Amino acid sequence: MNRNEKTIEWIPDAAGLLYPRRCPVCQEAVEERGGRVCAVCRTKLPYVRMHFCQRCGKPLLLEEEEYCRDCRRKEHQFEKGRAPFLYDKVMQASIAGYKYGGRREYAAFYAEEILNRCAKDMLGWQGEVFLPIPLHSSRRRRRGFNQAELLAKELTKRSGIPTDAGVLVRRKKTRAQKELNDQERLTNLKDAFSVRKGRVPYQNIILVDDIYTTGSTIDAAARVLKENGAEKVYFVCICVGNGN
Ligand SMILES: [Zn+2]
Ligand SMILES: [Zn+2]
Repeated sequence: MNRNEKTIEWIPDAAGLLYPRRCPVCQEAVEERGGRVCAVCRTKLPYVRMHFCQRCGKPLLLEEEEYCRDCRRKEHQFEKGRAPFLYDKVMQASIAGYKYGGRREYAAFYAEEILNRCAKDMLGWQGEVFLPIPLHSSRRRRRGFNQAELLAKELTKRSGIPTDAGVLVRRKKTRAQKELNDQERLTNLKDAFSVRKGRVPYQNIILVDDIYTTGSTIDAAARVLKENGAEKVYFVCICVGNGN
């Protein structure tokens, strides 16, 4: 499938012009008409700047480094990935509001930031589809929504690349990755995902998740997709961990 420059252009939506939005950082109403982030918080956003890992997108201190510490020692299953923000205290609070505080509207802000900052890289990937990392059905029931799926749909609205939430399935109820070390994370995620209907109907896939830290979730999903026919797997997230 050939994609031209026009595919990823984001279309600003009209919402927010009529009523103030909540700032995705401090949760206060945004005064500026149509703005998504308040003026104070805009300066606090931890953007990933010039230097980042050419594999996973984590920010790097040294210009001469091509890959982060993690990617230098690990063979990943995915090709490349990007995120607009570093996962710091500010973004931690924002994402907590999004996932657990009922602030679903933050998805639109995250999607815009991903496209503003990462669309150039994404164009080169020629992704045909966004596949959100699924939650286990019991967790999804409890939370009421899948944060990655909502984000993927906001990306679709602004990019024209479709979202397919029906390909990847979470088979196992896994423990929260943040409680585990590297080795435990791998075991925890082994066979965590499967593919519905056996065969993946896409070749170039962009996975969507909220946070990228060690990459074990993205790797596990990429592995099962490739075992079932996908050729290239990329990812976008809201935040990445530090790469130094
Ligand atoms: Zn704010
Ligand atoms: Zn990396």
